Amino acid sequence: MWSYRLGEKLLRALVKEHPKPGLSLMTIEPPVLSNTRDVIFKVAYCSICAGDLKVYDWDPWAASDATLHLPTVLGHEVSGVVEEIGSEVKKFKPGDRISVDSFLHCALCNYCTSGFTNLCENREIYGKRRGAFAEYAVLPEHVLVKLPDSISTEEGALLENLGIAVHAVEQVPHYPGELAVVMGSGPIGNLAAQALTASGLKVLICDKVEKRLKSAQTNTSIIAVDIRKDNLGEIVHDLSSGRGADFILEAAGSEPALLQAFDLIKPRGTIVTIGTYGSPVTFNPFFQMTRKEVRLFSSIGRTAQTWRKMVLLLDSSNINLKGLISCLLPLEDYENGFELAKSKDVLKVLLKP
Ligand SMILES: [Zn+2]
Repeated sequence: MWSYRLGEKLLRALVKEHPKPGLSLMTIEPPVLSNTRDVIFKVAYCSICAGDLKVYDWDPWAASDATLHLPTVLGHEVSGVVEEIGSEVKKFKPGDRISVDSFLHCALCNYCTSGFTNLCENREIYGKRRGAFAEYAVLPEHVLVKLPDSISTEEGALLENLGIAVHAVEQVPHYPGELAVVMGSGPIGNLAAQALTASGLKVLICDKVEKRLKSAQTNTSIIAVDIRKDNLGEIVHDLSSGRGADFILEAAGSEPALLQAFDLIKPRGTIVTIGTYGSPVTFNPFFQMTRKEVRLFSSIGRTAQTWRKMVLLLDSSNINLKGLISCLLPLEDYENGFELAKSKDVLKVLLKP
């Protein structure tokens, strides 16, 4: 476990010290191998996520997050290079490029042994007690994954996001030619649209931010709809010959988007939510769901099975991660990075310790 002490020690890290806005760039003690299966890695890149912005601003969502323990090094979307390994580490050697499954799981509980490591009974979300906006970090080998040769270390910091998108998509089976609607063209929506396209679906992605919609059109078969200008309902009606969408991913985390999803989905179609809703959503399940037997699912994190699918997708060159990287900044420039990351025109900001 990290300990925090201002002073003479070696490593720089970005720490959420106090329950108020802002972060502290401070020095911390270097990580140590306290377990034979631990791996120390040099952080290459760590990306700023929407959740980090909430913690940075100390908004009500962050202030009420019981899993967040201060002080903590923030950051969980990370890539790095293995520096040192414990005596029983089998999967990694120094020099290996890695990413992290930010849902730190125990690998022993009922959920872990059933494959649902994302729902581990002893789950710790990386960045809530310790994190990766630091020069070095240490984690057990079972939460690390090797980066596929097909991607760069920069892109490796985005695998956490790709996992969220792929796991949301894999909640139900898909068939080529079906119509999928992705609501919200942020990083997760963008990657989900790519994963659905790779499965042969007809994909429509919608948003009201033009730049994000442009970035989401990684592929000519992805239809981008600006909801400020176009009538989403009419377009979905036309594309589905009046039946409605087969699958909807609500990645905007907004009440109007979810309520519209109930109108757009076909009878017995599936809606998956992954957004972090800031406030409760009000709807009548009978009118919005029961009359069409709508299936409403939610999705969080990713599993070992998701990682296997991600590697296949990346190896088949069906996923463009590079297009999501808006800028790379040194860790010292974190204030600038966090302000940039708040802009809807920016997809991902990566910090390099
Ligand atoms: Zn577990």
